Amino acid sequence: MSAKILDGKLLAQKLSDELKGEIASLITSTGKSVKMVNVMVGEDHGASAYANSQKRVAQRVGIEYELLTLPENCSQKNLEMELDKLSHDSLVHAVMLHKPVPQGIDFQKAVKHIAVLKDVEGMNATNFGQLLLGGTKILPCTPAAVIEHLRNIPDFSLRGKDAVVVGRSEIVGKPVALMLLAMNATVTVCHSATDKAGKLQEHIGRADVLVAAVGQAGFVKGEWIQKGCVVIDVGINSVNGKIVGDVDFESAGKRAAYITPVPGGVGPVTVVCLMKNAVEAFKSQMPFG
Ligand code: NAP
Repeated sequence: MSAKILDGKLLAQKLSDELKGEIASLITSTGKSVKMVNVMVGEDHGASAYANSQKRVAQRVGIEYELLTLPENCSQKNLEMELDKLSHDSLVHAVMLHKPVPQGIDFQKAVKHIAVLKDVEGMNATNFGQLLLGGTKILPCTPAAVIEHLRNIPDFSLRGKDAVVVGRSEIVGKPVALMLLAMNATVTVCHSATDKAGKLQEHIGRADVLVAAVGQAGFVKGEWIQKGCVVIDVGINSVNGKIVGDVDFESAGKRAAYITPVPGGVGPVTVVCLMKNAVEAFKSQMPFG
């Protein structure tokens, strides 16, 4: 392994320390506290683990956090009514709807009931559109965590670099591509048709920065990447009870200059980015916002 490890836990600690200071001064200047509510329909182990880590980080930075669990058989109408209520509650500044939702719930339809200014995940069409136009402060959290990792590499600039994103989902691939473009990288987005056309390795092979968001354990092999590449692995895959990324860490670590581990890379920073969004949401709802 010759690559330097981009330690997500350390970066998350640094970012949350900065955020803690900002929140403390916001509380002093406004006399109000920042409150976020995560709405979860039904319960599942993975979702509860994510909510627990949100709660831990929220407490660390000084955000009031509530997990609102609705019954598994909650109707679309009741869910939308709860989201409407939170959207109109002046003591709540940030709202998210946890994914996945049970069958029978239309996530996209429900999310429209979260007020645009409180849409802490930046998933609603208005916030997503703002990302395209530039200038939004609420950035989808996982892509924002990717960018934080890149921003914190010493003496590194994305300007003019070839950035290759593998995956084009709404939650990772597309928004991260827009953010890389906004930072003046030359961006290529690959997907399953790129692979079927036999062109995936060719694109990956010229990446200065590679963002892997495929959802397949160890999919990107070390020999595909060029020496000195910065590898950001977004993947979270469970293999025999172990969490691994989308990049084959051992082989990629021999050629990359920097690489994020899984777990402990993008994940911990994602949660802090969510809290940063809660603070931006709060500021946008204050009279001075
Ligand atoms: P997704 O919605 O399933 O999208 C996967 C993408 O990979 C699709 O665009 C798909 O292409 C592409 N793909 C699939 N097979 C491919 C192949 N053979 N060659 C090239 N591209 C291929 O997944 P996602 O929600 O973006 O998540 C991706 C990974 O990130 C998952 O492991 C997920 O668990 C993880 N994740 C992590 C975080 C975090 O905080 N760290 C947050 C969210 C997600 P098509 O569009 O052509 O189908």
